[in-house]
Amino acid sequence: MRIAVLSRNPKLYSTKRLVEAAKARGHEVQVLDTLKCYMDIASLRPSVHYRGERLQPFDAIIPRIGASVTFYGAAVLRQFEMMGAYPLNESVAITRSRDKLRSLQILARAGIGLPLTGFAHRPDSTADLIKLVNGAPLVLKLLEGTQGKGVVLAETHKAAESVIDAFRELNANFLVQEFIKEAGGSDIRALVIGEKVVAAMQRQAKEGEFRSNLHRGGTAKLVKLTPEERSTAVRAARKMGLNVSGVDLLRSNHGPVVMEVNSSPGLGGIEEATGKDVANLVIEFIEKNAKPHHTRTRGQG
Ligand code: ADP
Repeated sequence: MRIAVLSRNPKLYSTKRLVEAAKARGHEVQVLDTLKCYMDIASLRPSVHYRGERLQPFDAIIPRIGASVTFYGAAVLRQFEMMGAYPLNESVAITRSRDKLRSLQILARAGIGLPLTGFAHRPDSTADLIKLVNGAPLVLKLLEGTQGKGVVLAETHKAAESVIDAFRELNANFLVQEFIKEAGGSDIRALVIGEKVVAAMQRQAKEGEFRSNLHRGGTAKLVKLTPEERSTAVRAARKMGLNVSGVDLLRSNHGPVVMEVNSSPGLGGIEEATGKDVANLVIEFIEKNAKPHHTRTRGQG
């Protein structure tokens, strides 16, 4: 097959691994810098150009689209979809999953376990917002944050009030969430491909920190999931419409709760912690599922 990886940088661990795995399985593979792709969108024969040339059609596209380029990246992917290429994750599903509020609403409607969560922008009653998640301690999250930036633990009602007041002045969207204390500073990343969790790791925050992000000094190890955790992760991925995703869970005393579903999960941490060849499984999935002109939405909707 002819496969393209949409990625800003061919040197990134995940991109390199996917290229290696595709080549090892006998495919022709090219890394395209998402932002350098440009397109003729008005033509009946959609095309994508790169480095001064019209690209020959691809059988499959592996989107590795960073959060900061979601808008343009989704448009490029949609163009490839309209040309008949099979997207590992569809543009519509990526856009959906990047909208945290929309994602949580979709997951809640499907009855998937979530931490008690409120969202707000300029709430006119801080006290009532705090009550919505059963009071302090609680977690506040700025919607734009990644890698744990903008995630704050407010241990007391007073602290929660002052952070909410500060967020209100920022004119930002934010989440107020029940603090899952019993998770003990650890969370679970389940890597889902199709209908299966193919690898799972537990990340543990460093001493004195409740955020387990590896970028914040957290450590990762292999973990065995319970059947309930597995089915929660798979259902969350399916509801988001993602073929490949990283589902982040917390172990709460009311069962597994989903924090987030990532559409471009990093392979580095999870391959290292679990010893699984996730890149190879991704390519295998593409081989089994790629069909021309198969995108459910064909870029519509
Ligand atoms: P980001 O997307 O910026 O990484 P997250 O929402 O994943 O932010 O939060 C970062 C980390 O903080 C999580 O990995 C988890 O360890 C911890 N955390 C987040 N929300 C909660 C919560 N409601 N209860 C307990 N810990 C949490």
